[in-house]
Amino acid sequence: NILVEQTDAELFAAIQAENQRQEQHIELIASENYASPAVMWAQGTQLTNKYAEGYPGKRYYGGCEFVDIAEQLAIDRVKQLFGADAANVQPHCGASANEAVFLAFLKPGDTIMGMSLAEGGHLTHGMPLNISGKWFNVVSYGLNEKEELDYDAMEKKAHETKPKLIIAGASAYSLEIDFARFAKVAKDVGAIFMVDMAHYAGLIAAGEYPNPVPHADVVTTTTHKSLRGPRGGVILMKAEHEKAINSAVFPGLQGGPLMHVIAAKAVAFKEALTPEFKQYAQQVKTNARIVAETLTERGLRIISGGTQSHVMLVDLRAKGITGKEAEAVLGAAHMTINKNSIPNDPEKPMVTSGIRIGTPAMTTRGFKDEEARLTANLIADVLDNPRDEANIAAVRAKVNALTARFPVYR
Ligand code: PLP
Repeated sequence: NILVEQTDAELFAAIQAENQRQEQHIELIASENYASPAVMWAQGTQLTNKYAEGYPGKRYYGGCEFVDIAEQLAIDRVKQLFGADAANVQPHCGASANEAVFLAFLKPGDTIMGMSLAEGGHLTHGMPLNISGKWFNVVSYGLNEKEELDYDAMEKKAHETKPKLIIAGASAYSLEIDFARFAKVAKDVGAIFMVDMAHYAGLIAAGEYPNPVPHADVVTTTTHKSLRGPRGGVILMKAEHEKAINSAVFPGLQGGPLMHVIAAKAVAFKEALTPEFKQYAQQVKTNARIVAETLTERGLRIISGGTQSHVMLVDLRAKGITGKEAEAVLGAAHMTINKNSIPNDPEKPMVTSGIRIGTPAMTTRGFKDEEARLTANLIADVLDNPRDEANIAAVRAKVNALTARFPVYR
């Protein structure tokens, strides 16, 4: 720290301010978490200096004997964690993991099927401005009138359009996904079945959400969300796909792997294999259920009727406030959330009628049932009276008092 302070005071000040924000605010962005000091230490090591194109034991550079150990540890641990035949731990992020799968199995112009962004999917699942939407013919599925994933419509569409690849997984869907049902549809239409479990990975590792690995040809994930590792991606696959996926990641899509990040992934996977992580994932779910119930009691509507995971979407219309405004006023009260479109949202994507709330980060800092309830009540206190500065200041003081009792990095 002292070194950075001396060489770059301007940057140091920005990092210090961000550190303080992370300690002081209640972090409710569903895709964020606090990586452990061990994960962050690994990521800050000399492994950042090493080129290691290729895979353990088969590199294009000398001097890889020690980074080989790190990468093999990451591979072995993530396979154990999810019960996978094979793993590639090199994708730099979730988006590039998904692109590698496309590169392995598809040609431009092929048809793919994914959950629509507007109803909970991720932009890499076929959004028009993303490479997935530009290079492929996209058919989407969404939710039924009960705001549950519409499996019947998905099945019908798959039979009509015969996609080459079907993607299950979401960024804003709170319920459990029936991966077996998807797998059957994919088999019936001759599609590759890919699951993007990025959001749910930590819960899945702990047995707290259905595991897609037995059902899917390939499973992609980020490592930094509920799984609580460094920022990055991973691909798990059936043995028969290992060669195609590995050559799609390198040399297909990437050059040198980020060995310091891979080392940090290895640490995170070891942490996720512990009984403490299972308890953590259980509390993430409990906290999400309590937040959803409390917000419902306070007059807000949870999309899909509640949550079976770490995440929920909240319909704000009863409070006469948009997602954009809610994001701003909750931020002013030191609670960080993101605006999010809700099904059939009358507002534009930059405005929205909803917010997305997730509990992985608050649970890492030690929030249990009581603090989850208090957090939900503080959110509702802001939303009941969002244009009253004194109200926001009063909530902010309560948030600061709460977060001071639960420091993240001591
Ligand atoms: N897949 C899903 C389901 C996601 O929610 C996200 C990120 O939010 C990604 C992929 C992309 O991950 P990254 O931001 O690491 O590229």
